[in-house]
Amino acid sequence: MITDPDGTILDVNSAFSRITDYSREEVLGKNPRLLASGRHDTAFYAGMWQELLKHGHWSGEIWNRRKNGEVYAEMLTISNVYDEQGSLKYYVGLFSDITTLKEQQRKLERIAHYDVLTGLPNRVLLADRLYQAMLQAQRRNTLVGIVYLDLDGFKQINDAHGHDVGDQFLIQLAERMKHALREGDTLSRLGGDEFVAVLMDLVDHAASLNIIERLMTSAAEPIHVKGMELKVSASLGVTFFPQAEVLDADQLLRQADQAMYQAKQAGKNRYHIFDAEHDRTVRGYHESLERIRIALKSGEMVLYYQPKVNMHSGAVLGMEALIRWQHPQRGLLLPGAFMSVIEQHPFSVELGEWVLDTALGQIAEWRRAGVPLQISVNIDAMHLQQPDFVTRLRYLLAKHPNVEPGDLELEVLETSALDEIDQVSEIIRDCRNLGVGFALDDFGTGYSSLTYLKRLPAGLLKIDQSFVRDMLDDPDDLAILEGVLGLASAFSRNAIAEGVETLAHGEMLLKLGCQFGQGYAIARPMPSKEVLQWLNDWQPDQLWSETVRLSRDDQPLLFAAVEHRAWIAHLLQYVQGEKLAPPVLDRHQCRFGQWLDGQAKTRLADSPMLQKIISIHESIHDSAEQLVNHKIGVEVKDFLSEIETFESHRDELLLLLNELMEHSNRD
Ligand code: C2E
Ligand code: MG
Ligand code: MG
Repeated sequence: MITDPDGTILDVNSAFSRITDYSREEVLGKNPRLLASGRHDTAFYAGMWQELLKHGHWSGEIWNRRKNGEVYAEMLTISNVYDEQGSLKYYVGLFSDITTLKEQQRKLERIAHYDVLTGLPNRVLLADRLYQAMLQAQRRNTLVGIVYLDLDGFKQINDAHGHDVGDQFLIQLAERMKHALREGDTLSRLGGDEFVAVLMDLVDHAASLNIIERLMTSAAEPIHVKGMELKVSASLGVTFFPQAEVLDADQLLRQADQAMYQAKQAGKNRYHIFDAEHDRTVRGYHESLERIRIALKSGEMVLYYQPKVNMHSGAVLGMEALIRWQHPQRGLLLPGAFMSVIEQHPFSVELGEWVLDTALGQIAEWRRAGVPLQISVNIDAMHLQQPDFVTRLRYLLAKHPNVEPGDLELEVLETSALDEIDQVSEIIRDCRNLGVGFALDDFGTGYSSLTYLKRLPAGLLKIDQSFVRDMLDDPDDLAILEGVLGLASAFSRNAIAEGVETLAHGEMLLKLGCQFGQGYAIARPMPSKEVLQWLNDWQPDQLWSETVRLSRDDQPLLFAAVEHRAWIAHLLQYVQGEKLAPPVLDRHQCRFGQWLDGQAKTRLADSPMLQKIISIHESIHDSAEQLVNHKIGVEVKDFLSEIETFESHRDELLLLLNELMEHSNRD
C-alpha cells in the first residue's frame, strides 16, 4: 500500500485486495483508517506516527478489519519515502496476514495452560490463579477456599464403557461443575478424575458450604452419554487460606488432597474440611509412630469385643474384635484416635497380624472354656492385599490348632473392597476355601452395583450405622435399609445391622425382617474378661422377642408411619425457624396422603380404622395450614400449645398404624 504524506491511498497491489477484500478501486483516495478494527486506542496510532516522524519507519503487529467485517492480524512495516530534496513523498506499507500464526500461538498457550479434554485450566494455570487468589485475599482480608475433588466410581465407567465414553462423561461433568461455582472462582482439572476448585473472596468458612454442596450435587447428577445414563459422585477435601501457620500454594493443595482422602475413607460422596489444628497434633503423633510400635511391643494394645446377635431369638452369632489402645497417660483410646497414623504404613500390616493372632488365641481360650464363639476381625485393605495374606492366614490358623477356620470371620470395608475388586474378590475366595468367612463392613456407603456385589463373594453384609441410625425418621434411609435387605436376600447373603442404639431401632429392624444386629442397645464393646458374664446375663428385651417380620402387605404401613413422622418433624422445624420452607401442605400430596389415597384404600378397604386415620390426618393438615399461616411474625413461644397438639395427633396416628400392623400379624 502506498499513500501520500496525508495518508491518502495512492496505490495497492493484488495481495492487498486478497487480504483485505477491498478492490483497488474501492480504496484509492481513501484513508487506511477504513481498515481499523477498533482494537487499538489512539495512543497506539499516535506512537506509530511519532516513530515514523522520528525514525522514518515503523513495524509491528496490528489488528485490522477486512471488508466483510472479519478482524485479522497483520505484520506491518511502514517506511517513509523521500524525494531528492529530502521531503516526504510517500508512505509505503508492507504487510502480511498473520492470523493463522496468531491462532497457532494462542493454541499453544492454551495447551500450556488448559486441559485439552475439558478446556478447564490445568495445573500450571491453577498454580497461578491460586497464587493471585492468595494475594487478593490478603489485600482484602477475605478467605480463599481450596477444594480438591475426586470422583467416586469413574474408573468403573471407564472400565465398563471404554475411554471414549469416559471422556464424553468428563467433558459434560466439567461443564456442569463449572456452573456450580460463582463467576470468578476457578475450576481446574489436574488429570484423570481429579479437579481443584479455588473459591475466591469468602467472608468466612460457612460462606463456602453452599458452593461446596452445589458442587457435590452437580457432580452426582446423572449424565447421558450415547443414550446411557451414567452417574458418579464426588469426594471433596476442603482447606482455607490464610491459616495460623504460613503456607504456600503447594501445601494448601496437599492439605485439600489429604482432606479429600478422608472424605473417601469416610464413605465417599461427601466433603471433609481439613482440620489444621488436628493436623498439627497428628503430625505430633506422626513422630510417634514409633510410640505406637512400642505400645504394641509392650502390650498396651488390647481387643474389645462387641456381640452380634439375633435380636429376636437372642442367639449370639459371635463377637466383633475392636482394637483399643490402653494408653498409660491418656487412658483408653478408640481406633479413631490412632489408626489414621499408621494408615498406608507397612506397620498396619504388622498390627493387623497381631489382631488376627490375638483374636485366634481368644477363640481358642473360649473353646477351652467350653464356649465356642465366632470372632470377626476388621482387616485393613492394605493388609488384605499383601501378596502373602492367605499364606500368613493359613500359618496363623495352624498355630492355633483347636480353632476351626469357621470360627473366624474377616470384615473388610465395602469401600476398600470396591477399589480393588478383582484382587479382593480373589482373596475372599481363597479365604472361603480355607473355611474363613467374610463380611462387607459399612455396607451401603460404597455404591456397589449389583454386578460388583455379585463378584464379591462375602457371606455377610453389615449395613452401615448411618442408615440404621436415621431410619426411624428418614424415609429415604428406611428405603435404603429395606433395599439392602432385599439385595442380601436376592444374593443369598446374610445381613446384619450395625449401630442398633435403641429398642425402637431393633423393633423397626425386626419388622423389616432383619433379625441380626449389633449395637449399644445390645451391648457396648467390652474387654474379653467380661464376655462370659455377659453371655450368661444376656437375653433380648421382651419387645424384641415379640416382634416379628411384617407381611409384605403391611410394610407400606411402616413406611407411611416413618413418612408421617418425618413430615411432622419437618413442619415443627419450619415453625421453629430451623427450616426455610414448610413441608408439602396439600393433604393429598404429602407422602402419607399419597399412601392413604393409594395403597391404603385397597389394603384397608373394610377396616373400621381407615376412616379414623383419614380424619386424624385431615385435622393434622387443617391445623398445619393454620399454623403456617400464623407463623409469619409470631414468636415460637406463642404456639407451644399447638406444637403439643401436633405431637399428640402424630402419636395417635402412629398408634393406630401400629395397631393395624399388630392386628394383621395376629390374623
Ligand atoms: P466398624 O468395624 O464398623 O465397627 C463398629 C464401630 O461402631 C465400633 O467403633 C463400635 O464401637 C461402634 N458401635 C457399635 N455399636 C454402636 C452403636 O450402637 N452406636 C454407635 N454410635 N456406635 C456403635 P470403634 O471401636 O471406635 O471402631 C471404629 C472402626 O475402627 C471400626 O468400625 C473399624 O473399621 C475400625 N477398627 C476397629 N478395630 C480394628 C482393627 O483391629 N483393625 C482395623 N484395621 N480396623 C479396626
Ligand atoms: Mg467392623
Ligand atoms: Mg461398620
